[in-house]
Amino acid sequence: MNKKDFPIFNEKIYGNPLIFLDSAASAQKPETVLAAMEKMARTYYANVHRGAYYLSEMSTIAYEDARKTVARFIGAREKDVIFVRGATEGMNLVAQTYGRTLLPGDEILLSEAEHHSNLVPWQLLAAEKGVLLRFARVTDDGLLDMDDFKSKLSSKTKLVGMTHMSNVLGTLFPIKEVTRLAHESGALVLIDGCQGIVHEKVDMRDIGCDFYASSGHKLYGPTGIGFLYAKAELMNTLSPWQGGGDMVKTVTFEKSTFAETPARFEAGTPAIVEAVGLAAALRYLEGLTLNAIETHEETVMNALKDELWSVQGVKPLGNMALKKSLISFNIEGFHPQDIAMLLDKQGIAVRVGHHCAEPVTEKYGVSSSIRASIGLYNDLEDVAAFIKALEKAKAILA
Ligand SMILES: *Cc1c(COP(=O)(O)O)cnc(C)c1O
Repeated sequence: MNKKDFPIFNEKIYGNPLIFLDSAASAQKPETVLAAMEKMARTYYANVHRGAYYLSEMSTIAYEDARKTVARFIGAREKDVIFVRGATEGMNLVAQTYGRTLLPGDEILLSEAEHHSNLVPWQLLAAEKGVLLRFARVTDDGLLDMDDFKSKLSSKTKLVGMTHMSNVLGTLFPIKEVTRLAHESGALVLIDGCQGIVHEKVDMRDIGCDFYASSGHKLYGPTGIGFLYAKAELMNTLSPWQGGGDMVKTVTFEKSTFAETPARFEAGTPAIVEAVGLAAALRYLEGLTLNAIETHEETVMNALKDELWSVQGVKPLGNMALKKSLISFNIEGFHPQDIAMLLDKQGIAVRVGHHCAEPVTEKYGVSSSIRASIGLYNDLEDVAAFIKALEKAKAILA
């Protein structure tokens, strides 16, 4: 689907066509994103929210327009969209603002499958504030154990942090149901949307969560930009976490007063060109429609699952049938690093390691695995080439 929109596929890797199966780490960018960023840098770039001159006004309009595009894409109001460097910064922002209002003995309930970026910020907060971290079990299939989640949710729980889709297991988590239960119990909800938002339509009004974090570069946009959805009514009651230009109302030597959100949490010059690039990526996805992307990806994924099962010795982490857009696996008798290196020589890019989610990888009894993840540009030919290359790698290593 639309591979031709992505210039990188004109490149050859060691003389082979590129088969890119690492979109879960970072996706490639379509021409429209590159063109939008270049156009801004070349013709109407200046700092935002400052200058009283033509270029600065143009640039401010484009930056705020990007916020509108994000808001539309996720079904939110503009004032609920805070631009950040990426999902990691978004989750740290929640930890350093809402998190700092928590008291010793308060609990944060996470799933066992969280990416390090939705785990380590809470460990740092726990060490500082004396809050307790609890972990809802993930089943051998790679799903959230709902009974275990419910048993750990209590009036002490002040925040539930959960991934929308695991970047190791490829399974979807029931974020709407989790949000409903957490709210009933009086806890706020932070969803790590890095993987989920790429593969299915999201609507904040429908999910109902309090925070949703995502990165531009997983959505076919640039690095250095992402967003945190956070309700303005709450955010305006919280202290800023970073001080600087653009986030203040008045400043004297003694003290400052702060702007309302989102400016309140966007200290300093933001990633202006990148925000425009992200908006271009979202418009590109809207043009293709997420429904069509989902249908296409399902076809590719089904082929990938079937063909991978036919490879002798393949051991997936979790239940193969439940995986939505990525598969982490090992091949019995082979080291994943060796396989990945031989795939690379054939032009095939996969991830190998613990995928920034060490605890869940260890839970499946391995320290490392190969991960093949798909994006909208992958097709059935990519699957065939991948399986052929995998068999070849095995034959070389045997
Ligand atoms: C990629 C990823 C992150 C981290 O995103 P950054 O862009 O590195 O900040 C967090 N959670 C999940 C599930 C991811 O896939």
